[in-house]
Amino acid sequence: MSKNWKTRTRAVHGGTRRSQYGEVSEAIYLTQGFVYESAEAAEARFIEAGEDEFIYARYGNPTVRMFEERIALLEGAEDAFATASGMAAVSGALTSMLKAGDHVVSARALFGSCLYILEDILSRYGVEVTFVDGTDLDQWRAAIRPDTRAVFFESVSNPTLEVIDIAAVSELAHAVGATVLVDNVFATPVFSKAIEQGADVVIYSATKHIDGQGRVLGGVVLGTREFIRKTLEPYLKHTGGAMSPFNAWVLLKGLETMGLRVNVQATNALSVAEAVKGHAAVERVLYPGLEEHPQNALCQAQMGKGGTVLSLDLKGGQPAAFAFLDALQIGVISNNLGDAKTIVTHPATTTHQRLTEDQRADLGISRGLVRVSLGIEDAGDLVDDVLQALDKAVNI
Ligand SMILES: *Cc1c(COP(=O)(O)O)cnc(C)c1O
Repeated sequence: MSKNWKTRTRAVHGGTRRSQYGEVSEAIYLTQGFVYESAEAAEARFIEAGEDEFIYARYGNPTVRMFEERIALLEGAEDAFATASGMAAVSGALTSMLKAGDHVVSARALFGSCLYILEDILSRYGVEVTFVDGTDLDQWRAAIRPDTRAVFFESVSNPTLEVIDIAAVSELAHAVGATVLVDNVFATPVFSKAIEQGADVVIYSATKHIDGQGRVLGGVVLGTREFIRKTLEPYLKHTGGAMSPFNAWVLLKGLETMGLRVNVQATNALSVAEAVKGHAAVERVLYPGLEEHPQNALCQAQMGKGGTVLSLDLKGGQPAAFAFLDALQIGVISNNLGDAKTIVTHPATTTHQRLTEDQRADLGISRGLVRVSLGIEDAGDLVDDVLQALDKAVNI
């Protein structure tokens, strides 16, 4: 593997560990354990395992390691640890480094389960969390204290698609020595290299664009070798959030085509966003790739493209949103995102149902809001489908 290889080459070849059989497609080592040649060899491996030596699949596995190396190369991170799901990655990254008495600053607009960890779980163990509007740098500046240990945010928020300035927030956090943890799911490693932009630790739910075909759960934490091996690994290998080798294989193959998929998805998102502007059923189109989006300039600088997801706020509230969802013929109603199939979601009654009406209002999640995760279908077909479904949501 050459150091000079570009992202697309790394996505296809990075991390490959070819066995003595010379297989083209990476092998699935579906094994939890490994045989030692002698009792002495077992003892030696428990003292220190070499690069190609494994002990137990909760600690590591050759197929999982291929996935970790490939995504680390894509992201430009020193190392990575794969987890059973995106939430195992988020909770592992935070709980492995925090202890009672620590202070964390977090953006308020978070994926529901991330909010549960920050708001309910960490406080139970004596960690103090201050929430801010992630797009407002003055709020970050006011909330970050000399004793702040970590900051956490989603670089593009779900489902209102606000973009947070990774470089600017990282600078504020680093000034007090705090660790910057970024959930970069909506941006994908294709559009945003969060580590290069200032983050210390980057987290992905691999369930989304990395699989991209709705098959398996997975997650990954990326960072310095020191953080991954000294802080995260001891925590994760003993608490059990390991990725299955089969899932690692699916996700490893997913990485090969992710760049192609997300670029088509982002082009489709922009086409649909442009097409629905000014439609009689639509109050607002939320898509950072549109010039009129408040963080469009930041989005272009940080991601180059607007991403694969857009949200529409419909004038007729929940009845209009439901009429729209029910009328779609291509887009399916579900709650995943980043899939090859277009998926539509009504956050207020599904992914964000747990929040109070006030919390939802605070986050801009109205009853008329629908989230559309664009797939890789034909752009013209998608535009036609969305427009005909919007026609059925007028004057409701
Ligand atoms: C889906 C998602 C997660 C959680 O990932 P799972 O794989 O479902 O556990 C975390 N953060 C964001 C932004 C997500 O979209």
